[in-house]
Amino acid sequence: MSRSSSWPGALESLRLIGPDPQNWVPKRSGIDHNVAIVGGGQSGNAFAFALRRAGIGDVTVIDGASDPAHAGVWLTGARTNKLRTPKAVPGPELGLPGLSFQAWYEANQGPEAYAALDRIPRIDWAAYLNWLRETLAIPVRYGTRLRRIEPVGDHFRLHLDVDGKAIVETARKIILANGVAGGGGAYIPGVLTELPTSRYAHTSQDIDFKALRGKSVAVIGAAASAFDAAGVALESGARNVHLFAWRAAIAALPVIRLRVYPGAYDHYHGLPDEFRWRQAKRFRDAGSTPPVDAIERAVKFPNFHLHLASNWQSAAIENDQIVADTSHGILHFDFAIAATGNFVDPEVRPELSGFAHEIARWRDRFTPRAGEEDDVLGAYPYLGAAHEYLESSPGRAPYLKDIHVFNVSKMASGCPSAAANARSTRIASLVNSAW
Ligand SMILES: Cc1cc2nc3c(=O)[nH]c(=O)nc-3n(C[C@H](O)[C@H](O)[C@H](O)COP(=O)(O)OP(=O)(O)OC[C@H]3O[C@@H](n4cnc5c(N)ncnc54)[C@H](O)[C@@H]3O)c2cc1C
Repeated sequence: MSRSSSWPGALESLRLIGPDPQNWVPKRSGIDHNVAIVGGGQSGNAFAFALRRAGIGDVTVIDGASDPAHAGVWLTGARTNKLRTPKAVPGPELGLPGLSFQAWYEANQGPEAYAALDRIPRIDWAAYLNWLRETLAIPVRYGTRLRRIEPVGDHFRLHLDVDGKAIVETARKIILANGVAGGGGAYIPGVLTELPTSRYAHTSQDIDFKALRGKSVAVIGAAASAFDAAGVALESGARNVHLFAWRAAIAALPVIRLRVYPGAYDHYHGLPDEFRWRQAKRFRDAGSTPPVDAIERAVKFPNFHLHLASNWQSAAIENDQIVADTSHGILHFDFAIAATGNFVDPEVRPELSGFAHEIARWRDRFTPRAGEEDDVLGAYPYLGAAHEYLESSPGRAPYLKDIHVFNVSKMASGCPSAAANARSTRIASLVNSAW
């Protein structure tokens, strides 16, 4: 059965909720869009659907990717075989059973096949999201990248790059659903940046694994993306892969159970700062622990080597090889992969240039207890109840309340789960305010 074909249950779900409400937002001259959603991945599309059902018209969804296959992470940067998220977490179907992953999967593969799944295969999740976007007819404008947001009185001028051409459009509100890197950028350890860029890559980049056939590869980091990258390199015929973890053990830490409690993350913002800080810190300290199957994917290869409690002190190119001075001695590699995650800092984001310094951070609003300090978390934006930016000095940048943030930088203020991005109708209803 075709994975993108619609099926009666989905259409029936849409029929039973009736036609989309009329746009209740009054038109204003000079405004192109009531809401501009930046990012046409699972979050952006879920928000587009939720806003439509809330009767908010003139919503545009833009994505810098050239087409659906290059948007979002699932067919690009993600190399995991299965999602980490439990398969039954409510998702971008926004509560409509006929639009859920389970409904789609059972229609294609049968109920027994769904029952037999332990977690959702990545490729199936990508196919489901594609099907959902098509079924809901979300008109994503691919090849349209936001370069800069310019606040102008009570609205924004959006400086866009449309297939290489610069244009300007206006919007009253903005939703930043621009993914993991959208809060800052890829974190690459300084020791690697000393090397020529042809000799290393970050896991978020498009890595040519075929070119690593027969090569010796180092992976720095021990989170899920590290084991995924190691697994793909080995499956692609790398001569050997050495994975360096600064921790002394790869702990099978318990899944952060909050992820499977939608009621918890819908109301997460109402929790005291102290609790949210501690949760975010716990999440950061634990890291994105690899699932057992991701570890097994790598360790089944005899040419996989795990270096625990190991760092790189320095790296240089000698005789066309990376010579790394590591906690486990001098080692030689052809290529290095930084599986070292992302950092959050509004100041480095080009779209926020000109006003990023006005955005309130956690360090402006909260003083952790002794022993719970964390400069990295302190740099995260301190967001309001609708995930909107707040002002670091009240009164100086009132337009910030109309920029809602659903990229990774919401982690300290909202639920520390990427999955929660697409899940919350409550958030969409908060965006639907103060017109
Ligand atoms: C290896 C890996 C494994 C993961 N596993 C899980 C998991 O198991 N469970 C889970 O919930 N999450 C997981 N995640 C996190 C995952 O990224 C998110 O859950 C999910 O992709 C979030 O969807 P999104 O729409 O918010 O962001 P994305 O899917 O990243 O989409 C963001 C979109 O924004 C677009 N964009 C960015 N900047 C601009 C701009 N300036 N202008 C226009 N468009 C722009 C991008 O092109 C992209 O299409 C994983 C991530 C990775 C990398």
